[in-house]
Amino acid sequence: MVPPSKTNTIDFDAAKLQRLGFASNRTQSLRPVSLAQLRQKLNLQLQTSLEVERILDIFFREVQRLVPLHALAYQHPSSDLRLELGVRATHSAGYRLNHDGEYLGELIFRRNMRFSEEELTQLESLLACMLFPLRNALLYRKAVQCALRDPLTDTGNRIAMDQALQREVDLARRNLQPLSVLMLDVDHFKNINDTYGHSTGDEVLRAMADTLKAQLRNIDMIFRFGGEEFLVLLSNTNREGAAMVGERLRFAVQELQCTAQSQHVDVSVSLGCACLLPGESVDSLLRRADSALYVAKRDGRNRLTMAG
Ligand code: GH3
Ligand code: MG
Ligand code: MG
Repeated sequence: MVPPSKTNTIDFDAAKLQRLGFASNRTQSLRPVSLAQLRQKLNLQLQTSLEVERILDIFFREVQRLVPLHALAYQHPSSDLRLELGVRATHSAGYRLNHDGEYLGELIFRRNMRFSEEELTQLESLLACMLFPLRNALLYRKAVQCALRDPLTDTGNRIAMDQALQREVDLARRNLQPLSVLMLDVDHFKNINDTYGHSTGDEVLRAMADTLKAQLRNIDMIFRFGGEEFLVLLSNTNREGAAMVGERLRFAVQELQCTAQSQHVDVSVSLGCACLLPGESVDSLLRRADSALYVAKRDGRNRLTMAG
């Protein structure tokens, strides 16, 4: 039996949130409301999410209680965000959103009928309700992105890698598609640090990561696996395709023009490649790629070895 609670803790559940107007009820009819009512409602609703997409979705839906719209477009290039809600239309009203000197993106309302002055005034008043929630959501998005990136090389970090590997393995299995990984390690990197210093070593790692990224397709993913080790995840790529990419990466690094103290710094990488076997786990796939990398090192470095 659960003992009676002696605290004043209240179970603040979804039903209570709904009564207070926080709930999202998509089926609820969009009754027209006054500007003041809608502002109040938006202030509550927009607090319920930290996702830019969700905030815009709520805003688009609620604003239509007062001003009919066909579409809402939003973009914030530095966050790599570009969203279109609704269907395209002929007339538009665009706003550049700023808060305290901070650029929060560009918002465009569209519809097939001209906007009246009164409607534009209403839209502007409603937009003000979105500034804080939007700023918070952009900050949150940035924080999440930072948590998944390696700051030195701007590649994915281990957390991102673990998530992507499991997701891609599941997808490959479900869609019966090939999946390959390349494990890549800089050759004699300790010598570079010892000869030119640690900060030159960092520069080399950064330049190398940029070179690798430039060689990959949009859908390929690269992660910093450890100090001077990277993992490249090649979705829908078979053994032959992965070998080709691996050789291309190896060659690009070898051709890299790195200088330190006016001297050319030789950089090369060794690679181990493994392709997902039926029913294979992520751990086993990585283990096979690592063993192949070990063989590439043992056989003289600056080479690619395919896992058996
Ligand atoms: P091998 O060809 O066998 O891979 O030799 P290696 O010298 O590359 O390998 P080893 O594991 O002996 O040394 C790796 C070095 O990478 C040692 C470590 O100090 C350095 N390192 C790891 N992370 C960083 C980093 O972020 N910046 C710099 N500059 N060096 C790093
Ligand atoms: Mg290493
Ligand atoms: Mg190394």
